[in-house]
Amino acid sequence: MTDFDFDLFVIGAGSGGVRAARFAANLGAKVGIAEERHLGGTCVNIGCVPKKLMVYASHFSEDFEDAAGYGWTVGDRSFDWPRLIANKDAEIKRLNGIYERLLANAGVEIVEGTAALEDAHTVVVAGREIRARYILIATGGLPSRPREPGQELGIVSDDVFYLDKQPERMIVAGGGYIAVEFAGVFNGLGTAVTQLYRGDLFLRGFDEDLRRGLAEEMPKKGVDLRFHTIIDRTEKTSNGLLAHLSSGDKLEVDQILYAIGRRPNIAELGLANAGVALGHGGGIEVDETYRTCVPSIYAIGDVTDRVQLTPVALAEGMVVARHLFGGEQGAVDYTGIPTAVFSQPPLATVGLTEAEARERFGELDVYRTRFTPMKHTLTGRDEKTTMKLVVERAGQKVVGAHMMGLDAPEIIQGVGIALKAGATKRDFDRTIGIHPTAAEEFVTMREAVPESELTPTTVKAAE
Ligand code: FAD
Ligand code: NDP
Repeated sequence: MTDFDFDLFVIGAGSGGVRAARFAANLGAKVGIAEERHLGGTCVNIGCVPKKLMVYASHFSEDFEDAAGYGWTVGDRSFDWPRLIANKDAEIKRLNGIYERLLANAGVEIVEGTAALEDAHTVVVAGREIRARYILIATGGLPSRPREPGQELGIVSDDVFYLDKQPERMIVAGGGYIAVEFAGVFNGLGTAVTQLYRGDLFLRGFDEDLRRGLAEEMPKKGVDLRFHTIIDRTEKTSNGLLAHLSSGDKLEVDQILYAIGRRPNIAELGLANAGVALGHGGGIEVDETYRTCVPSIYAIGDVTDRVQLTPVALAEGMVVARHLFGGEQGAVDYTGIPTAVFSQPPLATVGLTEAEARERFGELDVYRTRFTPMKHTLTGRDEKTTMKLVVERAGQKVVGAHMMGLDAPEIIQGVGIALKAGATKRDFDRTIGIHPTAAEEFVTMREAVPESELTPTTVKAAE
C-alpha cells in the first residue's frame, strides 16, 4: 500500500460508484471518490428520483377529475411549475447531503472535480495526482442527440429538470423509457404533448401486449402519439420552435425534448493513457468481474453500456468491492431483472416476453387478462389494465410476467421474486390472492389464451 494513496479510487459518485466505494471502505479498504457534478449521480439528481416526483406531480390532474365519481367536489386548481421545481430541488439537496454523510461515515474521501486517467494506477483530479492500487470507472452515461439541422434548439433529459417555465406545447422525440415517461409527465401537467417515434410501435424489447396497450391508453389521456415519424429539421420562430416532420407536417412548439438513448460518458477520461479498451457499443469493455483489459482498472454501470438501471449499477458496485476486498467471487445475475416504465398508466415486466419465450421454448401457455381497474368503476375513466403470464408448456415454469396498469411497478417487484425462485404456474395457482386487488389476478388466471387469440409476434424483441 505504501506506493499508493488509496486501495481503491472511484471515478464518479453515482449509483454504482458510491455503492462500490462504501462497500470497499466497509471492508477495510482506503477509498477515495471523485465527483465533478453532484453526489448521487444521474439517478438522484437528473434521473429516477426527480422523474418519479414529477410523475406523482402530474398524476394529480387525473386524481382531481377522478375524485368526482367518489362524491368529491374539488375547487379551482392550478399548477405552479416553479414551486414543483423548487420543492424537488430541496429534496434532491437533502439526498445529496445524505450521500455525503454516507461516504464520510464509511471513511471515503470525496475529491471534487473531473478525474482523468494518467496511467494504470494514476488519476488526476483538479491538478492533484492520485495513485491507487485499483481504479473503478463509474462515470455513467450522457443523453444522445440526433443529427438533424436545428437539433441544438431542443433539450435532453438533463435539462428538463431545470426548465424555468413549463412549456405549453412540446414534442417528445423517442420511444424508449424516458420519452414515454416524460410524455406522460408533461401531458399530466397540462402541456400539449406530441410524441414522435420512428418505428411501428414504441418500447421495443417489451412484451407486445404492453406496447400495444400503452399505445392505446396514452392518446386517451391526450398525448398525440405519432409513429413512423421523426423530425427532419427545426427552426426558431417568433413564437417558438417549428419542427418539420418526416410526415410532411409542421408543428410549432415551445420545447422539443430528445429522448433517443444514452451513450457512455468517457470523453474526458483519458482512457487511452491507460490503454483501456472499448466494446462494440462504445462502452468500456469488462470481463465478468468488471475488470477492463488493464488489470488494475475496473468499470461498472452505464459506462459499460449494458443494462442501464440503477439497481444493476448498485449490484455491480457491490460485486466489485467484495471481489477486490472481501475475497468473494460472486457475480451479478442478469437474468430476470424486473423493470418498470413510469408511464401513465405504468408498466412493469420481469422475465421473457411472449416472443422471446416462443423463440426459446417453442410451446407456451399464455394467460392474459384485460380489465377496468376497480378504482375506475366509479370514476368512469376509460383506462384498462393488462396482465399476462408466459409459461413454458413442457415444464410449466412461469418465464415471464407483464403488467400495464395502476401499481404495476409495485406488483411486479414481488412477482419477480417468484420467477427468480423458479415458480411454476401451479405455484401461482396454489397461492391465495389478496382481495380485492388487481395483483390477485396473477394467482387467479386459470384459462390459457387459445393459440388463435395470441398476439401475432410480428415485432420481435430483438429487432
Ligand atoms: P451515474 O449515476 O450516471 O453516475 C455517474 C457519475 O459520474 C455522475 O455523478 C457524473 O457527474 C460523474 N462523472 C462522470 N465523469 C466524471 C469524471 N471524469 N470525473 C468525476 N466524476 C465524473 N434507472 C432506474 O433503475 N429506474 C428509473 O426510474 C430510472 N429513471 C431514469 C430517468 C432518467 C431521466 C435517466 C437519465 C436515467 C434513469 N435511470 C433509471 C437510469 C439510472 O439513472 C442509471 O442507470 C444509473 O444512474 C447508472 O448509474 P452509474 O453509477 O453507472 O452512473
Ligand atoms: P432507450 O434506449 O430506452 O430508448 C431510446 C429510444 O430512442 C428508442 O425508442 C429508439 O428507437 C429511439 N431512437 C434512437 N435513436 C434515434 C434517432 N436517431 N432518432 C429517433 N429516435 C431514436 O433510451 P432512453 O433515452 O429512453 O433511456 C436510456 C436508458 O435509461 C433506458 O434504456 C433505461 O435503461 C434507462 N432508464 C430507465 C428508466 C426506468 O427504469 N424507469 C427510466 C429512464 C431511463 P428504436 O427502439 O427504434 O431503436
